[in-house]
Amino acid sequence: REKADTFEFQAEVNRMMKLIINSLYKNKDIFLRELISNASDALDKIRFLSLTDKDVLGDVPDLHIKIHADKDNGVLHITDTGIGMTREDLINNLGTIAKSGTSEFLTAISEGKADASSLIGQFGVGFYSAFLVADTVVVTTKHNNDKQYIWTSDAASFSIVEDPREDEQLGRGTRISLYLKDEAREFLQENRIRDLVRKYSEFINFDIYLYTSKEVEIDVEAEEEALRAEEEELLDEDEEEAPESEDDADDDDEGYEGDDEDEDEEEEDEDEVEAEPTKTTRTVWDWEVINANKPIWTRNPKEVEDEEYNNFYKAFSKDTKDPLGKIHFTAEGEVTFRSILYIPQEAPAGFFNDYGNTQSDLKLYVRRVFITDEFDDMLPKYLGFIRGVVDSDDLPLNVSRETLQQHKLLRVIKKKIVRKALEMIKKLDDESFKKFWKEFGTSIKLGLIEDFQNKSRLAKLVRFHSSHEDGELTSLDDYVARMKKNQEHIFFVAGSSMEEVKASPFVERLLKRGYEVLYLTEPVDEYTIQNLPEYDGKKFQNAAKEGLKLDDSEAAKKYKEEQEEEFKPLTEWLGEHLSEDIEKAVVSDRLTDSPCALVASQYGWSGNMERIMKAQAY
Ligand code: ADP
Ligand code: MG
Repeated sequence: REKADTFEFQAEVNRMMKLIINSLYKNKDIFLRELISNASDALDKIRFLSLTDKDVLGDVPDLHIKIHADKDNGVLHITDTGIGMTREDLINNLGTIAKSGTSEFLTAISEGKADASSLIGQFGVGFYSAFLVADTVVVTTKHNNDKQYIWTSDAASFSIVEDPREDEQLGRGTRISLYLKDEAREFLQENRIRDLVRKYSEFINFDIYLYTSKEVEIDVEAEEEALRAEEEELLDEDEEEAPESEDDADDDDEGYEGDDEDEDEEEEDEDEVEAEPTKTTRTVWDWEVINANKPIWTRNPKEVEDEEYNNFYKAFSKDTKDPLGKIHFTAEGEVTFRSILYIPQEAPAGFFNDYGNTQSDLKLYVRRVFITDEFDDMLPKYLGFIRGVVDSDDLPLNVSRETLQQHKLLRVIKKKIVRKALEMIKKLDDESFKKFWKEFGTSIKLGLIEDFQNKSRLAKLVRFHSSHEDGELTSLDDYVARMKKNQEHIFFVAGSSMEEVKASPFVERLLKRGYEVLYLTEPVDEYTIQNLPEYDGKKFQNAAKEGLKLDDSEAAKKYKEEQEEEFKPLTEWLGEHLSEDIEKAVVSDRLTDSPCALVASQYGWSGNMERIMKAQAY
């Protein structure tokens, strides 16, 4: 017999386990979700490998999860036929945390930033939740190219030994055996397990079996009767083949059949009364599939309830909140694929701080087989907050991820996903759109800078504050609809705050004349407008730039020329004396109350832009 090697958990793991146990004692039942999710990941991995190498499945071609509650010994077993772990994997994956998110997780949880169970889901420290319900956890595992090992831990340290049991060989995969604490014995009840799987693991795309007992009622007398009848039939068949087939012939009249039915009914009634004492129950054990694992995206959208969409979203994204919006569609044409996309209520952590570097959460499937959620360019940066699944029958299955990433059809898919994502945003109702804009408005503005192809779609989504209604946002469509009869431009003014733009001397004359002015106060706004020089055929006009024309009538022109003539001495004098600071001084027709204003030249930077450029230079 091999001697077991004993190991200490890494200090961080110890800290993590303590935290999990102390903060999740009220949510113990999540352990099952976490272990099933790990089993599903392991199954995804072996299935993915089998795409390019059929031999890896070897003698264990069936991919599933089995749950067995051993009530006699108080042990719950969760077994998968997934990829399994080598001895090294056991040490690395179940003894140390090499994941980058860990310290972030520890900080977040100790600062009480979010609910612990949702954090645990997000940071993927699921395995240790086993210790919420178990004193001892035993992991039996077999990776294709290795021997079978047993990993055992009581949460203080762990040991690994080669598995000597010949009759317990898994072939391939992993069995997690939980030696349940007394107070956790409820998790041995079949109905409890069934409910948890329904609640948490509804969307696992592998069969989950439960070893279940069924009470079957058996009527001893009827059973004996049936046996006798069967025997007789066998005899009959041998001896009287010809006459029997005559009886069954088609020319039997209906009256006869009717009589027969009546007789049956009477017999049944009699049976119930008389046969009762002969009935008995027997317990039958069998594996029963307890999840309906038809992927939700393959279903007809008309038959999927909102709640199912929300549950699916929460299950795969690990978000605790319902999504803000969703779209479920089948794309056809150059490439066929199905997809469900979601808008979360909140941007993922670090989305704007670390713009473009947060991992998107779009899962790619090919023919229902999970391929990856790590293709970071599935969505453009500005839509990096969109989550969902994409499943195509047209992509090849038997290629590496790298080859797939280069596939030309993937480009077509990406393009359509962007369009559909924008369509989903556009279809949000007013209330949801307001929430969306508050959280992701900047994304749309960045999209206008980054995504030339979808400029017009994005322009329809963009919102700005305006002089039309205090504190409210307006779309460009609404602005255009309110434009005055002869108004040619969409007027805007940019600045660092609402107070500043509202007090701008450039705006006052426009407002006095009844024009509406957009107030651009976000740093990105002016770039956005520059990338969108016009909307609906109307050019944007910065109120703080030269060239602002309000009145093109002949009379106005003449009046302006006269004024220019009259004030020529002054403008020339100013031009000379302030030549260090200004390019020129001119007579303005856009001020009413203020005597003068500093204006950026048509091709120069506006004051606001200058401020941004300066800020960026630091
Ligand atoms: P995560 O699932 O986010 O990686 P977990 O703590 O749930 O974190 O699991 C840690 C690691 O242990 C997994 O990444 C995986 O490598 C390994 N593991 C856990 N359960 C299994 C299993 N059933 N089969 C194979 N590997 C597993
Ligand atoms: Mg996990």
